Amino acid sequence: MCCIFCDIKNHIVPVNFLFENENFFVINDANPQTNGHCLIISKNHYEDIHDLPDFLGKELICIIKDQSNRLISEGLADGIKIIQNNGVSAGQTVKHFHVHIIPYLDTH
Ligand code: AMP
Ligand code: ZN
Repeated sequence: MCCIFCDIKNHIVPVNFLFENENFFVINDANPQTNGHCLIISKNHYEDIHDLPDFLGKELICIIKDQSNRLISEGLADGIKIIQNNGVSAGQTVKHFHVHIIPYLDTH
């Protein structure tokens, strides 16, 4: 299966990796909703959450927390929104599993 996130994983499309391990990698979103918006992407081409093996769940939660803490420590967030779209009707545009980490700052 070939898709844009597989091409990024395989370094066919050059993108800066913010984090990488055996099962996941993290990149900045190309169309960020806020400054620091990033994506946690599975290395294997799982289409969506239904496709993602359960055993990766704990590791994924750890990466979500680590990336959230990074954004807080970089001063880009005091609140974090986590979004994960499944299916076209839910807004999924790239059919390769990913989690959005979207940082928010209270500017008041
Ligand atoms: P979704 O709508 O949940 O499938 O989100 C897909 C996300 O991937 C969108 O926020 C896009 O901006 C992002 N995206 C698409 N192509 C790229 C790319 N080449 N590099 C980084 N982010 C991308
Ligand atoms: Zn893919």
